[in-house]
Amino acid sequence: MTQEMTHYRNFINGDFSNTADKIEVFNPSTQELLATVPASTEQDVDRALAAARNAQKAWAERPAIERANYLTTLANKIRENAPRLARVITAEQGKILPLAEVEVNFTADYMDYMAGWARRIEGEIINSDRPGEQMFLFRKPLGVVAGILPWNFPFFLIARKMAPALVTGNTIVIKPSEETPINCFEFAKLVAETGLPAGVFNVVGGAGSVGGALSAHSNVDMISFTGSVVTGQRIMAAASENITKLNLELGGKAPAIVLADADVDLAVKAIRDSRIINTGQVCNCAERVYVERSVAKEFTEKMVAAMQATKFGDPLADESVEMGPLINQQALEKVAASVEKAQAQGATLLCGGQVADLGQGYHYQPTVLSDCDHSMAIMREEIFGPVLPIQIVDDLDEAIALANDCEYGLTSSVYTRDLNKAMKTINALDFGETYVNRENFEAMQGYHAGVRKSGVGGADGKHGLYEFMHTHVVYMQL
Ligand code: NAD
Repeated sequence: MTQEMTHYRNFINGDFSNTADKIEVFNPSTQELLATVPASTEQDVDRALAAARNAQKAWAERPAIERANYLTTLANKIRENAPRLARVITAEQGKILPLAEVEVNFTADYMDYMAGWARRIEGEIINSDRPGEQMFLFRKPLGVVAGILPWNFPFFLIARKMAPALVTGNTIVIKPSEETPINCFEFAKLVAETGLPAGVFNVVGGAGSVGGALSAHSNVDMISFTGSVVTGQRIMAAASENITKLNLELGGKAPAIVLADADVDLAVKAIRDSRIINTGQVCNCAERVYVERSVAKEFTEKMVAAMQATKFGDPLADESVEMGPLINQQALEKVAASVEKAQAQGATLLCGGQVADLGQGYHYQPTVLSDCDHSMAIMREEIFGPVLPIQIVDDLDEAIALANDCEYGLTSSVYTRDLNKAMKTINALDFGETYVNRENFEAMQGYHAGVRKSGVGGADGKHGLYEFMHTHVVYMQL
C-alpha cells in the first residue's frame, strides 16, 4: 500500500472532501490496517444529494451518446488500471486475485455494455380507441439514485448501479460497504479523471447509518440496494415515508438439483466451484443440494474429495490459493455456528467443519454435510461460507417441492441429460434464474432478479436498464 492510499475522502460535486470521523479498513487475511475512509454525517449526505440533484437536469439534457462516452472512457481507464485495482479488491475483501481481475474487467465490459444502450432506449406508439387520438409512451430518467452496496462484489456493483443510472440520464450517490470502501474511492478517482460533470457521480463513505440517511431522504428518487434481507427490510421501512422507488437485490439460498441421469463429474465440479468461489460469499451460488438416491453416494464421495482438495489461505501471500478468507470475524463465527447447529440437528459432517488455524485471518475449512433435511436451518437459511449441505431425494417432484420450500427465490440449478426433465424443472421452480448443467455467473444481457425475499426488481439487460426510468404516457387529441 502506498502512502497515498492511507486516507480517502468523500467525492461530492466533483471534489474530494474531508470528514471529521473516519472508519478503519482491514485486510481479512492479515488483519492489517489498509486505510481509513470517511464516516459521513447527515450533512455530507444532504450535500451529496443536493449536488446530484443540481447536476441532473443538465446531465439528462445532454445527447445520450455524450453520456455514454463518459462510461466508455471510464471503462478504458478501469482496464488500464486493472492489475492495481484487482490487488486493492483482494486486499480489502479477500477474494483471490484471478477472481478480482475478472471482477474488474467485467466491470469495464459492463460500462461498455450499458453505454451501448444510449441510442437504443425505446418508447412505444399505442393505438388509441378514440378516433383521431394519438397515444404514445416514452421513457424518462427518475432523477437522483442512491446506490447502497455490499462487500462481496464491491467494484462490479458500483457499475451495476452507476452505469444504467447515468446512461439513462440520472445522477447518483453511492454508499460503499464499510467493509470494502477503498476500491470505490479508487473508482471515484478514475471518474474524476474522465471530466464527468460535477455532481453526476458522488461517493459518501460510512456505515449503515449513512445508508439509512440516504434511504429516508426526500431528495432521492430511487434506492438501488444490494445486500441482506434484514437491511432490505430496514430500507423499505425508511423509504416508505417518501414512497421512494426501490430496487432490492437481496439474499439467496440457491438449490442445486442433481438427477440420476446427470453427468456427476460435471455436477460435482460446477457445484464445488460455485461453493468455494469468493469463499461461498455469493448471493447466487449453490447453497444446498438435492441429489437423487441412486447417484447420491457417488456424488457425495466425489464432492468431499473435491472440497478437501481446495487450497486456501492468504491470496496475496500465495497466488496459488483457490479460496481466501471470509470477510470478518462475525462472518466466521456465523458460518461456524451454522455448521455446529446442523450437526446438533442430525447432519453428518463429512469434511471440514472447523475454523482453519493459519495463524491469522478469517479462514474456514471447505465443508460438506450429509443427512440434511428441511427441519435444519442449514437447508433454509443463507450460509455465506464454503459449506455444502446435501439432502437425498427419491425423485424430481420431491426435489422441486423442497427447492421451492424456501423464503428466498434468487437462483437455482438442475443437472440432467434429459431435456424433458430440465424443462419440467424450469417450469416448476419459483426462482428468478435457473442454470441447467452449470452454476452461477449471470450474463450482463440477462436479468438478475429474485422472487420472495430475494428482492424487488432486478438488474442487467434491457429490463434492468428500464428500471432506472419511468414511463410517461401521452394522449394527444388532434
Ligand atoms: P448488508 O445488508 O449487511 O450491508 C449492505 C449495505 O447496506 C452496506 O453498505 C451497509 O452499510 C448498508 N446498511 C446497513 N444498514 C443499513 C440501513 N439500516 N439502511 C441502509 N443501509 C444500510 O449486506 P452485506 O453483508 O454487505 O452483503 C451480503 C448480503 O448481500 C448477502 O445476504 C447476499 O446474499 C447479498 N447480496 C445479494 C446480491 C444480489 O444480487 N441479490 C448480490 C450480492 C450480495
